[in-house]
Amino acid sequence: MNKLGFGFMRLPLTDPDDQTKIDLPLTEQMVDAFFAAGFTYCDTAWMYHKFMSEPTVGRAVVSRYPRESFTIASKLPLGMIHSHEEGVEIFETQKKKLGVDYFDYYLMHNMVHEDYEKAKEYDLLSFAREKRASGEIRKLGFSCHDTADFLDRVLTECPWFEFVQLQINYLDWEDEKIQSRKCYEVCVKHGKPVIVMEPVKGGTLANVPDPVRELLRSVHPDWSPASWALRFAASLPGVQTVLSGMSNMEQLTENIGFMKDMEPLTAEEMAVLERAAAMIKGTISIPCTGCRYCVEENSCPMDLSIPRYFALYNLAQLHGGDAEQEKAQYEEIVAQGSGRASECIGCRACEAVCPQRILISERMQEVSGVLEGRSND
Ligand code: SF4
Ligand code: SF4
Repeated sequence: MNKLGFGFMRLPLTDPDDQTKIDLPLTEQMVDAFFAAGFTYCDTAWMYHKFMSEPTVGRAVVSRYPRESFTIASKLPLGMIHSHEEGVEIFETQKKKLGVDYFDYYLMHNMVHEDYEKAKEYDLLSFAREKRASGEIRKLGFSCHDTADFLDRVLTECPWFEFVQLQINYLDWEDEKIQSRKCYEVCVKHGKPVIVMEPVKGGTLANVPDPVRELLRSVHPDWSPASWALRFAASLPGVQTVLSGMSNMEQLTENIGFMKDMEPLTAEEMAVLERAAAMIKGTISIPCTGCRYCVEENSCPMDLSIPRYFALYNLAQLHGGDAEQEKAQYEEIVAQGSGRASECIGCRACEAVCPQRILISERMQEVSGVLEGRSND
C-alpha cells in the first residue's frame, strides 16, 4: 500500500510571507527522499504558490529524473478560464512550465456546478478527451468539492472520467457540507479510483486539542495525530493515492516512514477516530484549511490575507483570553500591506471559490471583532 502522494502546494519557503519564494534546494532534497523511498506521485496545479508550483516541479523533479520514473498530476483551473482558447493556452503553458510533453494524471480543477457547465460551454471536456486520445494525458479525472448528488450526476453523464480527487479526512467524513463519505461512496458505486486531498484538513488534524492527542496516544503512543489522519484516508478501499502537502523534511520523513507498506486501520482504530472527530468538532471556530484558493483563484479587492486571518482567529478562540499575541501578529500582516478584516466590502467573490463553503464575508466581521477589538453591531 504505497499510497503517499507529494502535494506541491505547501512547499518550504525562504520567505514565509511570500508564496513565490520556494526553497528549491530543500524541495529537491525532499523529492530525493520521497523517490528513494519508492513513492512516485507528484501533484501540482496552475495557481499553487502563486503560479510557481509547476515550474518548481519542473526543476526539482522533471529536470532531475528520467521521465518514466515519476508521475505528474496537474489541473486545468476552470474557475480562472473565460474561453476555450484560454483553456487551450493554459494547457500548453503548463507543459512548458513543467517541461513535460504528457501528464500522467490531468484533472479539471475544483469542478463545482458552475465550472462543469462552463467546461461544457467552452468545449473543454472534449478538448481534454482529445488530449487523452493523443497521449498528452494518460489518465483524465477531476477534483470535486461539491455535493455527492452533483458528483453522481457528473460521473453518470461523463463515465469516461477515470478517477476523482476528493477531500477525505476523518473529521469531514460525516460532515453534511463536505460530504466526504457520501462522495466516496458515489465513486465506489461508479467504480472510480479516488485520490485523497486534505487528509489532514490543512493541518487541523496534526494540531489536535490536548484531550484528543491523549486519546490517540493511549491507543498508539508512537503514532502522531497527523499519521492517524493519513492512515484513515489510506485505509479506505478504492483510494489510490493520499496527497500530503509536505512543508519540511521532518514531515516527509515521518510520512514515508509509516506510509510505506502501511497496514489498513482496524475497525477498533476507526472507532477511535470517530470519537476523536466528535471531540474536535466542538473546538474549531472557522473550518479553513489554508488552501489559499480565495486569494490565489480570486483577487480580493481589499487585499485581505483571508487564510492567515482565519488561522489567527482560530488560535485566538482556542487560547481564549485577550488574544494579545494574535492581535500583534495580525497588525504585522496589516503593516506588510494586507487590508484589514474590517475593510471587507462583502462582495463575496472569495466565497464562490472556497471549497469549505465558508461564509467568509460574515466571518470577517467576527475576525475584526476579535483581532481589531471591534464590535459587530
Ligand atoms: S467578501 Fe471581503 S474578503 Fe471576500 S473578496 Fe470581497 S472584500 Fe475580499
Ligand atoms: S477561506 Fe476557504 S478558500 Fe480561503 S484558504 Fe480557507 S478554506 Fe481555502
